[in-house]
Amino acid sequence: MLRITELSLPLGHPPEALREAVLRRLAIAEEDLLSCTVFKRSYDARKKHSEISFVYIVDLEVRNEEGILQRLQGDRHVMVAPDTRYHPVARADGNVAERPVIVGFGPCGLFAALILAQAGLRPIVLERGRDVRRRTKDTWALWRQQVLSPESNVQFGEGGAGLFSDGKLYSQIKDPHFYGRKVMEEFVKAGAPAEILYVSKPHIGTFRLTGVVAAMREQIIALGGEVRFESRVSDLLLEAGRVQGVQLDNGEVIHTHHVVLALGHSSRDTFRMLHRRGVFLEAKPFAIGFRIEHPQSMIDRARLGKYAGHPELGAADYKLVYHAKNGRAVYSFCMCPGGTVVAATSEPGRVVTNGMSQYSRNERNANAGIVVGIEPEKDFPDGPLAGVALQEQLESQAFVLGGENYCAPGQQVGDFLRAKPSQAFAAVQPSYKPGVRPTDLATALPAYAIEAIREALPAFGRQIRGFDREDAVLTGVETRTSSPVRITRNRETFESLNVRGLYPAGEGAGYAGGILSAGVDGIRVAEAAARSILAQASGKGD
Ligand SMILES: Cc1cc2nc3c(=O)[nH]c(=O)nc-3n(C[C@H](O)[C@H](O)[C@H](O)COP(=O)(O)OP(=O)(O)OC[C@H]3O[C@@H](n4cnc5c(N)ncnc54)[C@H](O)[C@@H]3O)c2cc1C
Repeated sequence: MLRITELSLPLGHPPEALREAVLRRLAIAEEDLLSCTVFKRSYDARKKHSEISFVYIVDLEVRNEEGILQRLQGDRHVMVAPDTRYHPVARADGNVAERPVIVGFGPCGLFAALILAQAGLRPIVLERGRDVRRRTKDTWALWRQQVLSPESNVQFGEGGAGLFSDGKLYSQIKDPHFYGRKVMEEFVKAGAPAEILYVSKPHIGTFRLTGVVAAMREQIIALGGEVRFESRVSDLLLEAGRVQGVQLDNGEVIHTHHVVLALGHSSRDTFRMLHRRGVFLEAKPFAIGFRIEHPQSMIDRARLGKYAGHPELGAADYKLVYHAKNGRAVYSFCMCPGGTVVAATSEPGRVVTNGMSQYSRNERNANAGIVVGIEPEKDFPDGPLAGVALQEQLESQAFVLGGENYCAPGQQVGDFLRAKPSQAFAAVQPSYKPGVRPTDLATALPAYAIEAIREALPAFGRQIRGFDREDAVLTGVETRTSSPVRITRNRETFESLNVRGLYPAGEGAGYAGGILSAGVDGIRVAEAAARSILAQASGKGD
């Protein structure tokens, strides 16, 4: 298979133009090009006043590959395509008695379960929340009726934290084994749009993700796995530094020597249980801030210039970073083009924001977190769970500022910059449901964070015209940007530093920061667990 990179074609080109460009580039006849697959398509809009082109990477089957490569030696954009197929590491050749347990059915648990099921190891998945259908109803009850289900909400339930999201599927992780490709291919098999395999910033959107997750669950069950909802793991059974099983909150015990912990960042009761049991945990950096909303049309104009609204480009996104004078980094987080700000608490008496979009990304507002990085040494030095306590405190305070009914506190950017409470919102209306209470956000975060955000917004306004406009809306608080805890693991075996057979994974363990990276980490950890189970089954493990 050959690969060509940096193949550039104008926006709006006809489909056959790509094949023609390939034939020209390789100087070969039509019949010598056996197949042509787009591996990646991106566009560069940084220079918004010049023409925007699509830039392709294409993989090709050709006659006489060797000859072409020799002829085009020295052309650094023509090469042998890397093997991006997934190669399973292990497969049970009969029924192995030991069944691994996976705690949590977010993207990490989903992919860990799929890999273990495909290896013939019949995993048991335990998920504290409900299946996607019932979970969707429960989540809407908070957004529409201000009724929270603490075990079934934006954070907990089938599909994990990313279910009600923009479904952005990109990440900057190193991925030498192309596990990200495996994640995308499985999503497409389960009903995601095929374009996620090649567009440079793919996204699925909430509604489609729901169907994809349910289809993958059925596949895991068909392969001999089991998926149990409303099954919260409340304790670990440990003996001589090795896991022996898990206990559910109804008292049921499930014995196993292999537990994948794919908890996500919001399972605070489980972090506390792990700490009590002596599992090695450490505090890790995360970020705190607000959500900001602007008209999507303003962002489109700023990013795409005359191409704003072009159907092939869709709603524009942005990524911003600013280093404040007080030493704090302020950056945009989880930007959702054409989306809404969502109520993302899982706990009574707390308010926390996040963002989501549908596949079409056609809501009126663009939103993103504007967050400040914080570190254990400087900002929450009191032990492994101090970051959790800080999040709880800020979210409880936001609940009070919002009026103690799950509405969020909010402020117009102009008022925030002048340190003056807002009385109302104007042209930009907040999208957060059940509602936003105009107030003063100055006390919603520590003073250093407020100071840094006040400095950053005008600086962002110099990069995106109107970013600091008077009527842009801030909604608080954004505290669950990533896990405040790392459940540190051994680099080779992927097990907890001090508990054999316990495999911390995904976002909650501090090893992922999004849907794609959580899926990739699930694959990595499942492979390590599968190797260990099969070694034990053949008498070679310890
Ligand atoms: C509103 C929102 C929008 C987002 N948008 C995006 C986006 O567009 N793109 C992106 O890449 N990322 C996005 N994210 C982040 C992304 O969702 C997470 O990074 C990802 O889901 C982490 O995957 P995970 O499997 O590690 O954990 P999670 O998805 O959090 O899953 C953990 C699961 O474990 C379960 N669980 C926890 N404790 C227990 C227990 N004791 N017993 C049983 N089950 C338990 C939970 O119920 C949960 O279902 C978004 C997050 C939110 C909240």
